[in-house]
Amino acid sequence: MAVEAKAIEEIVKKILEEMMIKKDACITGYGIFEDMNEAIEAATIAQKELLKLSLEQRGNLITAIRKAAKDNAETFAQMAVDETGMGNYGDKVIKNLIAAEKTPGIEDLTTEAFSGDHGLTLVELSPYGVIGSITPTTNPTETVICNSIGMIAAGNAVVFSPHPTAKNTSLKAIEVINKAIIKAGGPPNLITSVANPTIDQANIMMKHKKIKLLVATGGPGVVKAVLSSGKKAIGAGAGNPPAVVDETANLEKAARDIIDGCSFDNNLPCTAEKEVIVVDSVADYLVSYMKKHGAFLITDKEQIQKLTELVVDNGHANKELVGKSVAHILQRIGIEVPSDARVAILNVERNHPLVKAELMMPILPVVRVENVDAAIELAVEAEQGFRHTAIMHSTNIDNLTKFSKEIQTTIFVKNGPSYAGIGIGGEGYATFTIAGPTGEGLTSAKDFARRRKCVLVDGLSIR
Ligand code: NAD
Repeated sequence: MAVEAKAIEEIVKKILEEMMIKKDACITGYGIFEDMNEAIEAATIAQKELLKLSLEQRGNLITAIRKAAKDNAETFAQMAVDETGMGNYGDKVIKNLIAAEKTPGIEDLTTEAFSGDHGLTLVELSPYGVIGSITPTTNPTETVICNSIGMIAAGNAVVFSPHPTAKNTSLKAIEVINKAIIKAGGPPNLITSVANPTIDQANIMMKHKKIKLLVATGGPGVVKAVLSSGKKAIGAGAGNPPAVVDETANLEKAARDIIDGCSFDNNLPCTAEKEVIVVDSVADYLVSYMKKHGAFLITDKEQIQKLTELVVDNGHANKELVGKSVAHILQRIGIEVPSDARVAILNVERNHPLVKAELMMPILPVVRVENVDAAIELAVEAEQGFRHTAIMHSTNIDNLTKFSKEIQTTIFVKNGPSYAGIGIGGEGYATFTIAGPTGEGLTSAKDFARRRKCVLVDGLSIR
């Protein structure tokens, strides 16, 4: 192992010298720089090297990234929990594995062809060049894995700007992926970052002329920042996913799915159930099944008030409690919960502050409404036009259709936990960059590529 590591170091040193990158610019030899401008320059050189490789070789790099991410899924999960103090280890391992295994690679890049009397035209998906990717603290390695696979598959290099509170974890993923790329025959610095990422560094990146596309994965502030940059930008922003339950639902399954989805990684995923809206006639059954499957019901008005004041701060989640366990949060207002409690539920009115705030913690308000139409109307209001994720439990096709049409979310999960929408248990590919605001939706390699036309006039049509 030590011999292998040394051999890789030697290769990196040699290539860096050949490329005449300042020797002390790259701190680790694996993509981490002191200075953002150096990180961008190095990625620019690496992208040019990437384009010299065949598609088959590019595919080999993606295979190597997947393997390295899978091999390190547990390390990444533990580092994320230790550094951010958010979420839980087991679910983070699953998220890392899903990002490694189910993010589409070069197979995502399909070519369109037009042929006729005037020849043959191809529309091919071609790289932007160097992409600036801003990543969240809630998925510090998952986003790095997912975006590295998709962006490199499309022929780009990536400069990452990780969230400062998760920097060691994100930088570790960047290092591991760089090592894997080099070992598989790719150039060093295909993904880069800075040792001390800050908003100022992110701003340098956003303004740099060699960054051709910005991708922001985070809350409303960063999405607004990239959309105001004057560059092409993809914004993957906040959500507030409602789970609607109507009277035709399989209530026990709905209750279990909601608790499973809401408690996953302590509710950190932007896709996780954030409020339940249930038709009154079945609400008591749903709540009782939720209790059976790990919900702790709070009914005392004073306790609900105290909890609300604790977790919501001026309409937003109290950052100190984001991603914490239900036991930790409730203990702050003097409530001890049983060891098997996964989520706290509380019955609230439709305009309660917990319904609109994106809490990202296992505290789940439940609102009762008269019928399914009222449930859909309130769910659309609670989702606030983020176009992110919604969940419905129903066996009535008309109700499912009506809700999915009215809510217009990128992800709509029917009769399952929310995480089925990112490929955990559901069919389809995975992504950790869900671009509702800018419309790409479930981003993958094809979204990190430009459509370019290649026209051969009056030839090669064999029809
Ligand atoms: P955040 O918005 O605080 O930070 C996200 C990233 O943006 C970080 O790297 C941060 O340093 C940077 N940033 C923030 N403001 C910036 C600014 N003005 N200029 C430049 N950079 C800036 O979010 P977070 O707490 O890390 O993550 C949680 C949020 O992200 C939630 O709202 C969640 O819904 C959302 N999220 C969305 C997706 C998606 O795919 N749509 C995925 C994960 C998380």
